[in-house]
Amino acid sequence: MKKMLFMGLLLGLAVGTGAQTKVIAHRGFWDTSGSVQNSITALQRAQEAGVYGSEFDVLLTSDGVPVVNHDDVLHGLRIEDTPYDQLKDLRLVNGEMLPTLEAYLEQGKKDPSVRLVLEIKPHSTVNREDCAVLAVTGLVAKHGMEAQVEYISFSLNVCRKLKQFVPEAKVAYLEGNLSPEDVKRAGLDGIDYHYSFFTKHPGWVEQAHALGLTVNAWTVNRTEDMQQLIDAGVDFITTDNPLLLKELLNAKKK
Ligand code: MG
Repeated sequence: MKKMLFMGLLLGLAVGTGAQTKVIAHRGFWDTSGSVQNSITALQRAQEAGVYGSEFDVLLTSDGVPVVNHDDVLHGLRIEDTPYDQLKDLRLVNGEMLPTLEAYLEQGKKDPSVRLVLEIKPHSTVNREDCAVLAVTGLVAKHGMEAQVEYISFSLNVCRKLKQFVPEAKVAYLEGNLSPEDVKRAGLDGIDYHYSFFTKHPGWVEQAHALGLTVNAWTVNRTEDMQQLIDAGVDFITTDNPLLLKELLNAKKK
């Protein structure tokens, strides 16, 4: 009986159904004193807030160093075209240095209960994207963090290469232009779409779950939108306001 219950729980987790919606901090928990998007502090704050996962963006420098930043350009330098040596002393708005992925992983490792939702940004060529996938997955493996890291990307090429190079990696697609069937056919594990897509396609949450895909919605900051998505049964909500979402979910539990 216990074994059956355990298997049921595993199945529920695997297909993402039945379980409560989980909180993912968008670019870390940055909307708080001393923090800024994609900083090490934002990851620390997300860890302190006890979220399920913390999302962040990764780009490859011209000499192949993965760094954590959302925009292609930092202080006038295009990250993809600049060697790391010229970027390493650049500061974020909160005074922190531009974080490398390696530094980010080291901070992530301090709290294995917080999943790292690693977005690989689209790069200028397929070859650069493939290099980014190899560099990023290589670092994650070097740190033995395969089980703590999940991947997302707007680039279908990045998503496919992630599954090709690391078949056991969890990979979700961000662009919103593919149906759950198409994402399943591409061999990916989940959809991670702007929340408006679930209003446009009300059947997609259920269809994704029936196919064994996970469902994440971004970037959801208003109470009414959060509530609607929780009611629709999405597995994860990515938000700039993780404390508000936690509060809503806790109220639902009572
Ligand atoms: Mg992102």
